[in-house]
Formats: sequence, structure tokens, C-alpha cells
Amino acid sequence: MTTLTPARLFIDGELRDAAGGKTFDVISPWTDAPINTAADASAEDVEAAIVAARRAFDCTDWSHDSNRQKRLEICTKYLDLFKANFDRLAEIAINEGGCARGSVNREQVAMALAGWQDYLDVFPRVEWERDYGTREAWGMKNVRKSYHEPIGVVGAITPWNAPLYVNVGKVVAALLAGCTVILKPAPDTPSMGAIFGELANEAGIPKGVMNVVFGADPALAGEMLVTDKRVDLISFTGSTAVGKRIMQQGAESLKRVFLELGGKSARIVLEDDPLFERDVAMGMLTNHAGQGCAVQSRLLVHRSRYEEAKAILKATYENFGDNWGEQENPAHTMGPVVNRKQYERVLGLIEVGKSEATLLAGGKARPDKGPGYLIEPTCFVDVTNDMRIAQEEIFGPVVVVIPFDDDEDAIRIANDSAYGLSGGVCTGDVERGLKIARRIHAGTFSINNGMCIAGDLPFGGVKASGVGREWGVEGIEEYLEPKLVAIGSFG
Ligand code: NAD
Repeated sequence: MTTLTPARLFIDGELRDAAGGKTFDVISPWTDAPINTAADASAEDVEAAIVAARRAFDCTDWSHDSNRQKRLEICTKYLDLFKANFDRLAEIAINEGGCARGSVNREQVAMALAGWQDYLDVFPRVEWERDYGTREAWGMKNVRKSYHEPIGVVGAITPWNAPLYVNVGKVVAALLAGCTVILKPAPDTPSMGAIFGELANEAGIPKGVMNVVFGADPALAGEMLVTDKRVDLISFTGSTAVGKRIMQQGAESLKRVFLELGGKSARIVLEDDPLFERDVAMGMLTNHAGQGCAVQSRLLVHRSRYEEAKAILKATYENFGDNWGEQENPAHTMGPVVNRKQYERVLGLIEVGKSEATLLAGGKARPDKGPGYLIEPTCFVDVTNDMRIAQEEIFGPVVVVIPFDDDEDAIRIANDSAYGLSGGVCTGDVERGLKIARRIHAGTFSINNGMCIAGDLPFGGVKASGVGREWGVEGIEEYLEPKLVAIGSFG
């Protein structure tokens, strides 16, 4: 039995139904059946949210320097309220997002709130002013300084795979910076957005500063935010195709865009790795059914130990067995994929894999585990990097294993990708690992499983993985624009 309550919009300080009262069904990834309803925002609702956010930015003191401490206090109280709602957040993550109980303490809830705390902790390090010193020019003395000011109204468009984590990543940074926000969560996960509205007034957020809109149409609200001149910045996480469209459509109003667009990251296991068996086994992709933008979905293994790696993986998948796919099992960290579209897409790519490479483990849907979108942990070997399964982001529980000949070859293969989000190397020689790390085109990289993703570290990609950085002090500064002021004087 779930405790989900209908997801409502939040506009100008008011929890609301959609204008006209339309709703849509939220489908459970576990059962393929309706589990909740959500308000279906119309263009009228999105317009009201834009007006409210614009007014709150232009006509109140929210963004003023004098309110920095107040914003920190409000975001602290907001976090306390989220923490007090931990169980509810877990219910939402499990029932709406398809997270298995064991992932609640990972990125789905606990890490998201820990990241929020990290934002509060790094806030004192935000650079609000910079002194450029004095310079003589044209007979004048010039004292130069920049003031870093909140950029304005932010449209935050977020996905379904780690909805709380990504919502926090955008909303909290923008609020701390002094922006006003319109959060637009994915149609699959509206409740994880709606809760930001439900708790906003109690946290003391002034009217219009925080707004939440969502609807059945995945594009309607988002496109309105992207094309509207009154929205100053779009912060988007999702697919590369939509990210490109946002950049194109945002160009009309020369909007600032932050884009985080996923990846096909490489995990390189060198032949000198003293923990070779463990590190190859860790390449299995199961957490949240592999639906993570920074997952290391290409496992690169030195050719001299490739057969050994295959045997390790075979045993690892066998040992893992059926320890996944039970909604309330705290030991399970893998559930279904999010929706029917993803289910069909991932199964389609698995079929492509069967025609291109050798299936080592998994490879099937598992209707015996439930009526939802459950797909087995799957591993392909004898993969070459030009295959579709090595190039396309599958966004499911699928890893592909590719052999390499030497460090140069590993670097070449890792970089031979449209994406550049993350990756890692496992080795007995950290200096060798570091040389490889410095040559990989990616925004984050781990050596020997180092945790390169945390709320106090900047996260983002290069190439088709996106533009800009989220989290850490850099993540807050994404929402600031420097204004340079020079004070001239003669004499
Ligand atoms: P998507 O890019 O379509 O959706 C992401 C968000 O953008 C949602 O809120 C959606 O409603 C909104 N959106 C959709 N069309 C829009 C438009 N034209 N203008 C503005 N906003 C729009 O992603 P999806 O279809 O849900 O997933 C497809 C693929 O995207 C996945 O298979 C995966 O490869 C990738 N993905 C990546 C991430 C990531 O973390 N980078 C997250 C989810 C999905």
C-alpha cells in the first residue's frame, strides 16, 4: 500500500490544481498500472509561474546582497523539512521512480539530502566580489571590481532517473545564489518535484520565489520556459536530443543554458591491478537498473587478462542471481526501468547486442518477477567500440566489455565516444592511473574507485555530455553573472 498523495502544482506561493482541473495518471514502474494522479499543467499555469518568478526576482529583495544569510537560513530550514519527510521521500522514490528499497540510502534519497547539506557548507566560499586592482588608463586612475549577481529567473528541467538528486542540484544552488525558480520535473516523477512546493511556505520561501509545474506532455512546460524571454537561465538534465533542442530554442533569447546530458563512460582495468578480480566484478551494472548518467557502462580490460575477466564476470552474475527486483527488500538495489518506453528501448538495444557481440549474462525481460518493467542484469563480451551497444547510452542494466592492448589503446577507446561525462581506471600504479586520467576527455574521473561525485564537487561533462558544472561552489556560481564596475578618478 503506498502513501502517495496527488501531486499538485505550486505557483506564486500556492499549492494548486491545474487551471481547468486536468490531471494525469502516474504509472508505477513495478506494476505498469496507475499509482497516483498529478495535476496536468496547461500553458496558463506555466505562464502564471513565469509571471510569479519574474515578479519575485524583479520586485522583491530576495536577490539582494543583504539577503544572503536569509537565503542560507531558509535553505537550511527547507532541508530540515525534507529530512523530516525522509520516509515519504523514500515512498515516492520507490513507488514513482521504481527505486528498490536498498537504493533509498544511495543516490535516490540519502545522497541527495547529503548533497543539499554540502551546498549549505560550501556557500561561504561563493565569490560574490573580485578585486581587479587599480590601473591607469587615458590619464585616469581606475579602481576595478566585479560584483557577482544572481542571474534571474531559472527554469530547472529535470529527469526521472535520480529525480530528488537532480532537483536538489538545481533548485538549492539557484535559491542560494538569489535566483527565483520554476522547477519542471519529468512526467514520470511529478511527486518528487511537487514536494518542493509542498514544503516551500513552511520553509519561509517568499511567494513566487519557488514554483513547480508539470504535466502529461513532456515538452509543453519545458519549451515554454526555454523560449520565454522572461526566463534567464535553463538548467537541464536529460537526453542529448532534448539538450540540443534547448540550446537551439534558447538561442532566440540568448539564454544561458546548463546542460547535463548523460554518457557512456569507460571503466579501465589495467593488467597490473592487484585487486583485478574485485575491480572487474565491480563493473557489473545493477544499481537502479543502470539508470544513471555517470555509470561506467563500458568495461575496458587489458587483452592479456580478458579471458580471466570473462570468467570473473560470469561467476559474479551467477552469484548475484535473482537478488534484485523486490520492491521492499532492503538488500535489493535494482528494480525496474522507469517506463514502458525505456523498457522497450533497452530491450531493443539488448537485441542489437545479441546480433553484434556475445551475451555473457542476462539478456531478457523478467515478467515472472512482476508486471512492471523488469529487465535482467545483462553483460556483453567480445565487444568492439564501434558497435552500437558500445556507442549508444543504453540507460539500463547493461554493461559491455571491450579488450584493449596497452594504455594508449585504452585511452583511445575511452575517448572514442560522443560523450565525455565520467570514467575510471583501476591500477596498482597510481601515477600510471593519473597519466591516463589526465588524457580522458571527461568532466569527472576516478582512480581505484575514488568517489569523484559528491555534493561538494563540481559535476558535469564535455562533448555530448553537456555544458557547465552542477554541485559544489562552482554549481552555485553557475547561477551568478559577474558585473564589472570601474571607478575612475583624475589625479
Ligand atoms: P528527456 O530528455 O526527454 O526528458 C528530460 C526532461 O526534459 C523531462 O523533464 C522532460 O519532460 C523534458 N523535456 C522533454 N522534451 C522537452 C522539450 N522539447 N523541451 C524542454 N523540455 C523537454 O529524457 P527521456 O525521454 O525521459 O529519456 C530518454 C533518454 O535520455 C534516456 O534513455 C537516457 O539516455 C537519457 N537520460 C539522461 C539522463 C541524465 O541524467 N543525463 C536522465 C534521463 C534520461
